[in-house]
Amino acid sequence: MAIDATQPYDETNIFARILRGEIPSKTVYEDEHALAFHDIAPQAPAHILVIPKGAYVSWDDFSARASDAEIAGFVRAVGTVARAAGMVAPGYRLLANTGPDAGQEVPHLHVHIFAGRPLGPMLAR
Ligand code: 5GP
Repeated sequence: MAIDATQPYDETNIFARILRGEIPSKTVYEDEHALAFHDIAPQAPAHILVIPKGAYVSWDDFSARASDAEIAGFVRAVGTVARAAGMVAPGYRLLANTGPDAGQEVPHLHVHIFAGRPLGPMLAR
Protein backbone atom coordinates (compact mmCIF):
# COMPACT_ATOMS: atom_id res chain seq x y z
CA MET A 1 0.00 0.00 0.00
CA ALA A 2 1.31 3.48 -0.81
CA ILE A 3 2.42 5.47 2.22
CA ASP A 4 1.92 9.06 3.33
CA ALA A 5 5.40 10.60 3.11
CA THR A 6 4.48 13.33 5.61
CA GLN A 7 4.18 10.84 8.49
CA PRO A 8 6.92 10.53 11.16
CA TYR A 9 9.60 7.90 10.56
CA ASP A 10 8.47 4.35 11.36
CA GLU A 11 11.37 2.42 12.92
CA THR A 12 9.69 -0.90 12.02
CA ASN A 13 9.76 -0.37 8.23
CA ILE A 14 11.43 -3.09 6.20
CA PHE A 15 14.49 -1.02 5.20
CA ALA A 16 15.10 0.02 8.81
CA ARG A 17 15.09 -3.69 9.64
CA ILE A 18 17.57 -4.39 6.82
CA LEU A 19 19.82 -1.59 8.15
CA ARG A 20 19.71 -3.16 11.63
CA GLY A 21 20.59 -6.56 10.15
CA GLU A 22 17.30 -8.07 11.32
CA ILE A 23 16.42 -9.33 7.86
CA PRO A 24 18.80 -10.29 5.05
CA SER A 25 19.49 -8.40 1.85
CA LYS A 26 21.92 -8.89 -1.01
CA THR A 27 24.34 -6.06 -0.31
CA VAL A 28 25.97 -4.36 -3.30
CA TYR A 29 27.73 -1.51 -1.50
CA GLU A 30 27.98 0.01 1.95
CA ASP A 31 29.71 3.03 3.44
CA GLU A 32 29.22 5.47 6.32
CA HIS A 33 26.17 7.11 4.78
CA ALA A 34 24.51 4.59 2.49
CA LEU A 35 23.61 0.97 1.87
CA ALA A 36 22.86 -0.49 -1.57
CA PHE A 37 21.21 -3.87 -2.14
CA HIS A 38 19.32 -5.77 -4.84
CA ASP A 39 15.56 -5.21 -5.02
CA ILE A 40 13.68 -8.34 -3.96
CA ALA A 41 11.37 -8.11 -7.01
CA PRO A 42 13.55 -6.73 -9.82
CA GLN A 43 11.80 -4.78 -12.57
CA ALA A 44 14.86 -4.66 -14.85
CA PRO A 45 17.89 -6.96 -15.36
CA ALA A 46 19.66 -4.76 -12.78
CA HIS A 47 17.49 -3.22 -10.06
CA ILE A 48 19.40 -1.87 -7.07
CA LEU A 49 18.06 0.15 -4.14
CA VAL A 50 20.27 2.73 -2.45
CA ILE A 51 19.20 3.99 0.97
CA PRO A 52 20.68 6.49 3.39
CA LYS A 53 21.64 5.11 6.79
CA GLY A 54 19.77 7.87 8.60
CA ALA A 55 16.07 7.72 9.46
CA TYR A 56 14.41 9.62 6.59
CA VAL A 57 10.93 8.83 5.26
CA SER A 58 11.35 10.16 1.74
CA TRP A 59 13.29 12.42 -0.60
CA ASP A 60 11.31 15.32 0.83
CA ASP A 61 12.25 14.50 4.42
CA PHE A 62 15.89 13.83 3.50
CA SER A 63 16.38 17.00 1.46
CA ALA A 64 14.85 19.07 4.26
CA ARG A 65 16.54 17.53 7.33
CA ALA A 66 19.71 15.65 6.37
CA SER A 67 23.12 17.21 6.92
CA ASP A 68 25.23 18.32 3.97
CA ALA A 69 27.58 15.40 4.69
CA GLU A 70 24.71 12.89 4.61
CA ILE A 71 23.36 14.34 1.36
CA ALA A 72 26.77 14.39 -0.30
CA GLY A 73 27.54 10.87 0.95
CA PHE A 74 24.24 9.50 -0.32
CA VAL A 75 24.43 11.14 -3.74
CA ARG A 76 28.02 9.97 -4.17
CA ALA A 77 27.04 6.44 -3.13
CA VAL A 78 24.39 6.27 -5.87
CA GLY A 79 26.98 7.29 -8.46
CA THR A 80 29.58 4.89 -7.06
CA VAL A 81 27.16 1.96 -7.26
CA ALA A 82 26.19 2.74 -10.86
CA ARG A 83 29.83 3.14 -11.93
CA ALA A 84 30.94 -0.06 -10.18
CA ALA A 85 28.12 -1.98 -11.88
CA GLY A 86 29.24 -0.77 -15.33
CA MET A 87 26.00 1.09 -15.93
CA VAL A 88 27.34 4.46 -17.07
CA ALA A 89 28.11 3.68 -20.72
CA PRO A 90 24.92 1.72 -21.49
CA GLY A 91 22.89 4.03 -19.27
CA TYR A 92 20.68 3.75 -16.24
CA ARG A 93 17.62 5.32 -14.63
CA LEU A 94 17.13 6.68 -11.11
CA LEU A 95 13.72 6.76 -9.44
CA ALA A 96 12.70 7.98 -5.99
CA ASN A 97 9.00 7.58 -5.29
CA THR A 98 7.62 10.04 -2.73
CA GLY A 99 4.12 9.63 -1.32
CA PRO A 100 0.85 8.15 -2.57
CA ASP A 101 0.71 9.52 -6.13
CA ALA A 102 4.16 8.08 -6.79
CA GLY A 103 3.24 4.76 -5.18
CA GLN A 104 5.91 4.84 -2.46
CA GLU A 105 5.53 1.60 -0.50
CA VAL A 106 8.46 1.61 1.92
CA PRO A 107 8.68 4.66 4.21
CA HIS A 108 12.49 4.93 4.23
CA LEU A 109 14.05 6.97 1.42
CA HIS A 110 15.31 4.76 -1.38
CA VAL A 111 16.59 5.51 -4.85
CA HIS A 112 15.94 2.78 -7.39
CA ILE A 113 18.68 2.20 -9.99
CA PHE A 114 17.40 0.41 -13.09
CA ALA A 115 19.68 -0.81 -15.88
CA GLY A 116 20.51 -3.70 -18.17
CA ARG A 117 18.15 -3.05 -21.10
CA PRO A 118 16.55 -0.11 -22.90
CA LEU A 119 14.17 1.16 -20.23
CA GLY A 120 11.43 2.61 -22.39
CA PRO A 121 9.41 5.74 -21.71
CA MET A 122 9.79 7.51 -18.37
CA LEU A 123 6.21 6.86 -17.29
CA ALA A 124 3.54 4.33 -18.20
CA ARG A 125 1.00 5.95 -20.46
P1 5GP B 1 8.72 1.90 -3.68
O1 5GP B 1 7.45 1.46 -4.32
O2 5GP B 1 8.53 2.22 -2.22
O3 5GP B 1 9.44 2.97 -4.43
O4 5GP B 1 9.71 0.66 -3.77
C1 5GP B 1 9.87 -0.30 -2.77
C2 5GP B 1 10.75 -1.39 -3.34
O5 5GP B 1 11.23 -2.17 -2.27
C3 5GP B 1 10.02 -2.33 -4.31
O6 5GP B 1 10.70 -2.31 -5.57
C4 5GP B 1 10.12 -3.69 -3.62
O7 5GP B 1 10.29 -4.76 -4.51
C5 5GP B 1 11.30 -3.52 -2.69
N1 5GP B 1 11.24 -4.32 -1.48
C6 5GP B 1 10.18 -4.46 -0.64
N2 5GP B 1 10.50 -5.27 0.39
C7 5GP B 1 11.79 -5.64 0.19
C8 5GP B 1 12.67 -6.48 0.94
O8 5GP B 1 12.35 -7.04 1.98
N3 5GP B 1 13.94 -6.61 0.43
C9 5GP B 1 14.34 -6.00 -0.72
N4 5GP B 1 15.61 -6.23 -1.12
N5 5GP B 1 13.53 -5.22 -1.44
C10 5GP B 1 12.27 -5.03 -0.99
